[in-house]
Amino acid sequence: GLETRGVSAWFGTHKVLERVSLTMQAGQVTALIGPSGCGKSTYLRILNRMHEMTGTAALAGQVLLDGEDVYAPGRRPSDVRRRIGMVFQRPNPFPSMSIQDNVASGLKLAGIKVGREERAHLVESSLVRAGLWNEVRNRLRTPGGALSGGQQQRLCIARSLAVSPDVLLMDEPCSALDPTSTRRVEETIAELRGRLTIVIVTHNMQQAQRVSQSCAFFLATHDTPGRIVETGDTAQLFGDPVDPRTADYVNGRF
Ligand code: ATP
Ligand code: MG
Repeated sequence: GLETRGVSAWFGTHKVLERVSLTMQAGQVTALIGPSGCGKSTYLRILNRMHEMTGTAALAGQVLLDGEDVYAPGRRPSDVRRRIGMVFQRPNPFPSMSIQDNVASGLKLAGIKVGREERAHLVESSLVRAGLWNEVRNRLRTPGGALSGGQQQRLCIARSLAVSPDVLLMDEPCSALDPTSTRRVEETIAELRGRLTIVIVTHNMQQAQRVSQSCAFFLATHDTPGRIVETGDTAQLFGDPVDPRTADYVNGRF
């Protein structure tokens, strides 16, 4: 699984996260919830070393993947990003690239060389796992941009899966999708669960309850950086929250 210990983050002198400690269990879905601006996306980007791509970004604390420090000296960010994939709010396949090449592009970016047959097998198995195979098996050469938004998002999931990551990070993966596509992506998440560690940021409280087994509630105020108010089993956090601020948030009172 994935764990952070006392993670704080800054953009320049602006502190945006304060001592975030969280364990994301392998084989489970962990949902990160909280109001806009509380640092959820920043936290995800810290997990796979995308945070450091912002020039002004700074970081303290530890990130451990299966007990190993993601920020250990000599560890390459590109290696970390191969093991910890990310899916974004807006589906971002290469629009003019074929469906099969989109899936295989993850391999190329990760510097993984495979033969023709192995490549075709990986494309198929990734599309199967992303729940898209049946819809695209007869048109693997059509451009990724020709798919619907929900199909494009599952294509992006397939692209992430092609490199066999240990962790899949999803930053509001359904917020640009219609209800039917949202359901399909949720089904995909449910299918993937158990095989890898999934962390999903969502503003949809019903979705958090449908897809996750554990949950962390983040909160920032005008003069305090984002921190975790409460973590727990999802059913408990929604049904019987400990902190009154959690109760207010999950019941839509702010
Ligand atoms: P939302 O729910 O709206 O997506 P969020 O919880 O994902 O919000 P972040 O995007 O992580 O929040 O932002 C946390 C804080 O960090 C905000 O105050 C934001 O303005 C700031 N921030 C984010 N990215 C940058 C950046 N590249 N440079 C400077 N400040 C940033
Ligand atoms: Mg965000």
